[in-house]
Amino acid sequence: MTSLKQALKTHFGFDTFRSKLQEDVVNAVIKGNRDVFVCMPTGAGKSLCYQLPAVMAGGITLVISPLIALIQDQVDHLRDRNIAACSINSKLPAAERRLILADLGSSSPRLKLLYITPEMVASSSFQPCLTDLCSRGLLSYLAVDEAHCVSQWGHDFRPDYLKLGELRARLQGVPCLALTATAPKNVQEDIVKSLRMHMPLSFMSPVFRSNLHYDVIYRDLLPNAYVHLLAFIKKAIADEQGCGIVYCRTREGCETVAHQLTKLGVSAKPYHAGLKAGDRTEAQSEWMQGKVLVIVATISFGMGVDKANVRFVAHWNLAKSLASYYQESGRAGRDGLPSCCRIYYSLKDKEQIYFLIRQEVKRKQEKRGSAKESDKTAVKDFEAMVSFCEQESCRHATISKFFGDKTPNCSKACDYCTNPKLVRAQLERAATLSTR
Ligand code: ADP
Ligand code: MG
Ligand code: ZN
Repeated sequence: MTSLKQALKTHFGFDTFRSKLQEDVVNAVIKGNRDVFVCMPTGAGKSLCYQLPAVMAGGITLVISPLIALIQDQVDHLRDRNIAACSINSKLPAAERRLILADLGSSSPRLKLLYITPEMVASSSFQPCLTDLCSRGLLSYLAVDEAHCVSQWGHDFRPDYLKLGELRARLQGVPCLALTATAPKNVQEDIVKSLRMHMPLSFMSPVFRSNLHYDVIYRDLLPNAYVHLLAFIKKAIADEQGCGIVYCRTREGCETVAHQLTKLGVSAKPYHAGLKAGDRTEAQSEWMQGKVLVIVATISFGMGVDKANVRFVAHWNLAKSLASYYQESGRAGRDGLPSCCRIYYSLKDKEQIYFLIRQEVKRKQEKRGSAKESDKTAVKDFEAMVSFCEQESCRHATISKFFGDKTPNCSKACDYCTNPKLVRAQLERAATLSTR
């Protein structure tokens, strides 16, 4: 066994790496001669990419993470494994904070991982401590988790993350590692620029998932959209083993679609914020156990839900961006088996969402009293979603390009690559609809 695998086992109790990618990242981080950029989906095990190098290094690894709750979770987990980790944040009692600072100031600190929130980075009491550690060569790595928060293009933009560029500049010679689960090309570029990373090595899970079949159906052209959905569901869950998700934008939408499917003989349940908490939990657990085949939900459903045999994800309404769509539809086929992702596209739906987005932007501008460049982000994000539906080209290729990945070999895993003529015919029929 290599010393790396040995350390993985000793410190974390894992026999193997989650993936080749995880192992490659760990090796690159330990090598330490280049900054590292990591983009891997949620659950892929990004934390280990800095935690393992951190415990193997002589010094301290500084970890930036946006939320105290996330930090607490990780610190608890590390401490359970007997790894010296702690966090300095605004909620920390002064006495504990003094203890930590005393350890950091000692000639050989015990601490291995120090988690801090970005607003703490800038605090005047903490700055000298960091500078001191750095000058004594005791900082092993700087890890920036949820790095997309640095980008104004991202959906979780946090102004405090912008201060990290300065921090980075001050920590000369400390290798920097940025990690995120969602980063379209422009967000990736922002991260590298803002964190002043120098020609980072990039590690990305491939965007393309060959077991997912993508297609778009113009809902307005269907004589009976529910019957159409029913046929899709029956085909997707042919073996009776799987289940599926239909996403709707509104509560009423969820209720209607679930009701219609039930009427057509499919076991379906709605899931949205308007339900009593008990009903919501029940719907989710029945679906998890396979007692209900189809959950008809708003996007509040799915976070943290990790079900392997989701055979289809249908969008009855459009997602707000292509990034969101990739994430939502990506809940299908986690077991690697063939699964279907379909959008039931409607022009009326599109206009409605544009209207809502513009209203939201106007509300923000009125509150602020001025317009901002980033106001356009929401509109642009949605435009990418719309053009995905209205395009005449490979859907997988569009998604991969959006995330800055190479063009995949779709081999008929989308409607366009299967039958471009059908896609064209549908577009032509839709054009006559919209001018009527
Ligand atoms: P991410 O940050 O990418 O969403 P996490 O770092 O939170 O993922 O890890 C997700 C889960 O995977 C955690 O429960 C973690 O303990 C587990 N994990 C990470 N690496 C391994 C591994 N090599 N073997 C088994 N489980 C792992
Ligand atoms: Mg994480
Ligand atoms: Zn294709």
